[in-house]
Formats: sequence, structure tokens, C-alpha cells
Amino acid sequence: MKNRHAIFPGSFDPFTKGHANIVERGLQLFDEITIAVGNNPHKPGCMPIDERIRTISELYKAEPRIQVRAYSTLTADFAKEIGAGFILRGIRSIKDYEYELQMADINHQLTGVETVMLFADSKLSSISSSIIRELNLFGHDTKEYLP
Ligand code: ADP
Repeated sequence: MKNRHAIFPGSFDPFTKGHANIVERGLQLFDEITIAVGNNPHKPGCMPIDERIRTISELYKAEPRIQVRAYSTLTADFAKEIGAGFILRGIRSIKDYEYELQMADINHQLTGVETVMLFADSKLSSISSSIIRELNLFGHDTKEYLP
């Protein structure tokens, strides 16, 4: 059977327990997952890409089925470039759903890549990178939300 390879794309600024939960569950569906860290130089307030890559790589260093890569192209093009047939995403709410539906459709039209979405674990569904950044900004400890 064909090797099932998915990319899990995002900004991961920072990588949270919510993201880690999607990766863990994704490993039950796919042989290989590439965590694709988006490099958007125009997005203000980002943790440098090298630091995001280093933190996530460290987290999964003992898992040979996970790679971590930076990318700065269209997600569907990056999936094609590295030979991944699937895009893995997480859905927390109806707001995520509306956006994901549109992206999945466009990405499929462009390259034939299939998007597989997992519903967020209810205990983790309020965690978002932007909330973590906001808590950090106001001096709150965010360790409990990070893997
Ligand atoms: P983006 O920059 O596109 O918002 P993120 O880097 O925040 O993406 O997240 C990447 C993926 O992880 C997205 O599919 C997002 O919906 C999902 N995700 C983020 N937080 C959670 C969570 N707490 N539970 C499940 N999925 C999540």
C-alpha cells in the first residue's frame, strides 16, 4: 500500500498542546507526518522560524515518523513538493470549519491533495496560539498549555 504521508501545516507560534494532540492522533492515521511551519515574514509578533522549528523538532526527536520543515510557498504546493498526499488540520469551532472548508476545497482543486480534519479534543479546544501570545504579553505563565 502507498505510504500515507500528511503535512500538518500552521504557524505554530507557539506550538501548543492542541497542536500536539492533533499530531498524536494523526500518527494513528498516517505513516508519516511532516509538521510544516509557515514562514510568513509579514506576520508581526512571530517567534523566529528557527526557534519554532527547534522547539518542535526537540519535542519529536524520538519519533522517526515525524519531520519538521519550514515552508514559505502555498501549502498545497509544499505538500506536492515533498510527496505528501494529505493535509492534516484540526477544527476547534464553526469559525475554524468555515475557513478549513474553503482551504480544503481550493487545495484539492489545485493539486488533488486531500485534507483530513480532526475535531479538537474538548479539553483543548479553547487553546490557540494567539491566546497564548496574549497571555505572554501580559506576563501570565502559559506552561500548562504547551507540550
Ligand atoms: P493557523 O496559523 O492557520 O491559525 P495554527 O498554527 O494556529 O494555524 O494551527 C495549525 C492547525 O492546528 C490548524 O488546523 C488549527 O485549526 C489547529 N489547531 C490549533 N489549535 C488547536 C487546538 N487547540 N485543537 C485542535 N486543533 C488546533
